[in-house]
Amino acid sequence: MSEQSSHSKYEFKKKLEELRTKKGRGTELISLYIPSTKQISDVTSQLRTEHGQASNIKSKVTRDNVQGALESLLSRLRYVEVPENGIVFFTGAVDIGANKTNMETTIVEPPQPIVTYRYHCDSAFFLEPLEEMLKDAKTYGLLVLDRREATVGLLVGKHIESYRNLTSSVPGKQRKGGQSAHRFQQLRLIAIHEFYKRIGEAASEVFLTVDHKDFEGVLIGGPSPTKEEFDSGDFLHHEIEKKVLGLFDVAYTDESGLSELVNAASERLADIDLMVEKKLMQRFFEELVSDSGKSAYGEKQVRENLNIGAVEILIISEGLRAERISLKCSNGDYEDTVTKNFKPGDQDVSAGSCPVCNGNLEILERVDIVDELSELADQMATQVEFISTDFDEGSQLMNAFGGIVAILRFNTGV
Ligand SMILES: [Zn+2]
Repeated sequence: MSEQSSHSKYEFKKKLEELRTKKGRGTELISLYIPSTKQISDVTSQLRTEHGQASNIKSKVTRDNVQGALESLLSRLRYVEVPENGIVFFTGAVDIGANKTNMETTIVEPPQPIVTYRYHCDSAFFLEPLEEMLKDAKTYGLLVLDRREATVGLLVGKHIESYRNLTSSVPGKQRKGGQSAHRFQQLRLIAIHEFYKRIGEAASEVFLTVDHKDFEGVLIGGPSPTKEEFDSGDFLHHEIEKKVLGLFDVAYTDESGLSELVNAASERLADIDLMVEKKLMQRFFEELVSDSGKSAYGEKQVRENLNIGAVEILIISEGLRAERISLKCSNGDYEDTVTKNFKPGDQDVSAGSCPVCNGNLEILERVDIVDELSELADQMATQVEFISTDFDEGSQLMNAFGGIVAILRFNTGV
């Protein structure tokens, strides 16, 4: 996975974690999923109806909160421009403790298209459709073929879409009377070759237009030896050929063959992601145990190496949750930037008191540590990779190394 999509996945995940912690004191938190195909005027008219019905709510507090949330949504919708993937609003009076609530709105632009319009009012936000997207946000190219038919499609998340269906004019194995066997065989081979070429062109049209940062690879299905013959020939564009993940036995070559292919490859798909992460962690551990000096771990050491441009790959745990906080004493005698871990939903950070004069410290700025480190990495052309905590080395990264390690370009002695 590329740095860009990996970082935005991290951001998206963090946002969902925050939303998950928010609770209403009654049934008063509204989740509104709007696909790009939905008319905003239809949405506003539904919200107005809900507003009217909310007047029947018995509890005055809940009633006021629901109507307040609906009014806030209605005014936001007046200026909304719905992006290509749709938009989601989470609005409501969130319980902030001490018998208080706070009217909050979070707007999410999803990484995959919203399929279904939803209006949902509950004591928690409705997050399932977005959580599904987090699980499978990748794109794979799908190609099934035999000598008579081929279908080209994409697997986006869990969704399979067929884009092209081709049929051939390759004659069957039985020749007609009057043709010489040799001539017949020659024509047949030419027709097969032509058909494979057309399949390759269709694959280029579909696969090369996918944003390559999201494109994980290509799966090819069909009977043997046809798919092997196609794959070993020079029919696929070299950029696509490099991305072939495997060949799988599949009986159908129409649209239903695409789902057959995805089923046949499902184990392989689950492994690919994990393999990439495992390999990276293995490389880190190899550097660590060797005397190359080309590894660093812990925030302080990694930061120093980042600053001097010595980091080749910055490796961050998906479990890392921390902020960089800039502090300043109101008496002007002390300034510092510190790192503070946080749990999702943490609202306030106490600044503490000045170590010089014991006066009050002010918070000047709070930045997510991943944003801050990524920006540093950017300036130094450092690659950034995120590692899940779902496997041994991944949870070791979080628990034993504080979630931040690096592979260095050279030994810096830092
Ligand atoms: Zn002070």
